[in-house]
Amino acid sequence: MITAAPEPRQPAALVPVRWQQALREAVRDPRELLDLLGLDRLAPRLSDEAMAQFPLRVPRGFVARMRRGDPRDPLLRQVLPLDDEMRPMPGFDLDAVGDGAAKTAPGVIQKYRGRALLVATGSCAIHCRYCFRRHFPYAEETAARDGWRDAVDLIRQDASIEEVLLSGGDPLSLSNGKLAELTGALADIPHLRRLRIHSRLPIVVPERIDDGLLGWLSALPWPVTLVVHANHANEFDGTVDAALGRLRAAGVHLLNQAVLLRGVNDSVDALAALSERGFAAGVLPYYLHQLDRVAGVAHFEVDDAHARALHAGLAARLSGYLVPRLVREIPGDTGKRPL
Ligand SMILES: *Cc1c(COP(=O)(O)O)cnc(C)c1O
Ligand code: SF4
Repeated sequence: MITAAPEPRQPAALVPVRWQQALREAVRDPRELLDLLGLDRLAPRLSDEAMAQFPLRVPRGFVARMRRGDPRDPLLRQVLPLDDEMRPMPGFDLDAVGDGAAKTAPGVIQKYRGRALLVATGSCAIHCRYCFRRHFPYAEETAARDGWRDAVDLIRQDASIEEVLLSGGDPLSLSNGKLAELTGALADIPHLRRLRIHSRLPIVVPERIDDGLLGWLSALPWPVTLVVHANHANEFDGTVDAALGRLRAAGVHLLNQAVLLRGVNDSVDALAALSERGFAAGVLPYYLHQLDRVAGVAHFEVDDAHARALHAGLAARLSGYLVPRLVREIPGDTGKRPL
């Protein structure tokens, strides 16, 4: 009888981690993106100034879900730095959501009762043009810088905090080891009841939901909610379905938040398709956000009257649990404000 010799084991550090490779290989050159999509004719509308403010970054798996040859593709519109961004517009300011004023420790933002938001990292897998973070110096403000010491101390000392939200940037762009370090530091705080993670990674780089991440999630001492971020039904495909299925199997509650964006999802059809597609993947709609009015995003705005009409149209069409809450963030409010 022949027995095969055991395979020599490769040291862990030499095995490339697929999702980290996907992050490294993201498209960063807008001309390459247009080339991949057969859209060279859009090149004159690219803006180097917009690129300098917030560089293009889009994972290749997300590019693969864009329609070739369609300059109005709803996924492309979310990431392409166009000259529209550099047109100044009154009312669109730098810190539109008041985050500058709501910091209570490095990387901690406390706006609402019972909840502390931790800016776990400044980096994201994808750069969304409409995002208010395009101006906020999160890279220097993350709680990770001092090993989360001040942030964890603050949460420990405030017994009113029952829920920690890991946000960013995108908290799942941290390694599994870093995440475990952070939750390890929080684990013995008796007043914490819930953990929430806000991440776009399960949508844009579904490979991120690897065995290590699932192991970490399953071992946490709190119920976990993961709020993903998809704005259009086309952002879902089989790889995303599989990733979300694994998260559900690990007992994670899945919600979606979307931003209402002109030219992306500003129709009842698009919003209904988003809710239905998300539900098919195991995700319930949570919020539909009115845009934060930061500089460079005015061309994405949908006015309030139209937003309300779209929301009413959705409510008339879908099961109640498929209708997200239409909200806006107002500095100083006690929660997101329904429109
Ligand atoms: C949006 C937000 C939350 C969470 O609000 P929910 O309504 O509970 O989803 C918490 N903290 C901050 C700073 C926020 O911006
Ligand atoms: S924080 Fe979210 S919306 Fe903003 S750029 Fe990162 S992934 Fe996009």
